[in-house]
Amino acid sequence: MVTLVSAARWDVVIVGGGASGLLCAIYAGRKGRRVLVLEQSAKCGLKILVSGGGRCNFTNIWTDPQEHFLSANAHFCISALRRYTPEDFIALVEDHDIAYHEKKSGQLFCDGSAKDLLAMLLQHARNAGVQIKTRAQVQSVEAADAGGFEVAAGAHSFFADRVVLASGGLSMPKISSDLAFRMARQFGLGLVETEPALVPLTWNNSDRARFAHLSGLSLPAAVRCGDNAFSEDILFTHRGLSGPAILQISSYWTPGDSIAIDLLPELDAFEWLVAAQESSPRTRVSSLLQTRLPKRLVHELSGMWFDDGRLGEVAHRDLRELANRLHGWVLKPGGTEGYRTAEVTLGGVATDAVSSKTFEVKQVPGLYIIGEALDVTGWLGGFNFQWAWSSAFCCAEHL
Ligand SMILES: Cc1cc2nc3c(=O)[nH]c(=O)nc-3n(C[C@H](O)[C@H](O)[C@H](O)COP(=O)(O)OP(=O)(O)OC[C@H]3O[C@@H](n4cnc5c(N)ncnc54)[C@H](O)[C@@H]3O)c2cc1C
Repeated sequence: MVTLVSAARWDVVIVGGGASGLLCAIYAGRKGRRVLVLEQSAKCGLKILVSGGGRCNFTNIWTDPQEHFLSANAHFCISALRRYTPEDFIALVEDHDIAYHEKKSGQLFCDGSAKDLLAMLLQHARNAGVQIKTRAQVQSVEAADAGGFEVAAGAHSFFADRVVLASGGLSMPKISSDLAFRMARQFGLGLVETEPALVPLTWNNSDRARFAHLSGLSLPAAVRCGDNAFSEDILFTHRGLSGPAILQISSYWTPGDSIAIDLLPELDAFEWLVAAQESSPRTRVSSLLQTRLPKRLVHELSGMWFDDGRLGEVAHRDLRELANRLHGWVLKPGGTEGYRTAEVTLGGVATDAVSSKTFEVKQVPGLYIIGEALDVTGWLGGFNFQWAWSSAFCCAEHL
């Protein structure tokens, strides 16, 4: 890691050497600012390394600021996401000859490893003259007597004209901190309640007893909670349900809500059952269902949703009821797996405290907040990194 060159006073101290902190440092450094990044871990960018199964889903080419982000202020993210777009970040990746591919739905992943992306950011930071101090956990940021800010990390104090809080959210507690939220309280900024998001949902007690043994089973489905629905895979686990459709809906789920799962989103189940009854009346209901659903799941639903007679013996009324259940399996999750397995934090520093153009805190000139620490949360699929890059770049432009 880069060795620290002492400077009595930095132009900019950036707290957090993750996605947003590193990109902000690069562009501020390129403008000739003397930039110091303080990172609590032994290494920068740990979340970049674990992201996307080690290949980092670093952006999404279909990023739509009005569709793919949650915030108490839906308009806040629009400006930055339009000023620094997926194409801008892709240009950086291509300049560095990092091979990438679209997995699905605009999601871009490194062909090789997320390590390549982190190495790119660190090299650009070095080239821009950025200094990085690792194992430097910041405890406090305060207005300094001589103007600017004093940033305390362990036994050291650093002085800077400007401070950028890029310390992220609460997911993966071992490598996170609540610094941005503590600082928000200290400076009198609003906080939108934080919750784990993009997180597996857990069974309630009775569903656990019934479905936990289906662990490992995965199938395409459409999952709805209120007005929001996502069509992707769901995955049964010992603890509950996971998979992309569940992670997506978790951002809209609050304790006590039910979710409805459509197990056959691509067809009209009633029409299918009636047609099969006419063409193959001697076929058992379970045998028919197994042509489209995993055997273990059908076995579990047998007796609960249908009596496993021959199709020809089942009344239309019962076929209708089975079709309704297949299209709308209602479950009441017991909770979520929490920050340990969540990809992001929903909520955060209230955006009305911050300029959407510069990311400067309105009440505290010289203090900036970017990335996941703010109340902006992307859908699964590369949108959270894009928010980190966009907010970081726009902030750096004004440093
Ligand atoms: C398992 C996992 C997989 C993910 N996969 C994807 C994906 O594929 N695509 C996607 O778009 N998003 C993904 N995300 C989300 C994405 O990683 C984050 O949204 C993004 O990293 C946020 O960037 P950030 O700079 O705001 O915060 P971070 O990248 O979390 O960086 C914050 C940095 O600040 C440091 N820090 C915190 N507190 C202090 C302190 N007090 N002093 C000094 N340093 C401090 C942290 O150590 C960290 O390095 C994933 C998240 C997880 C957990």
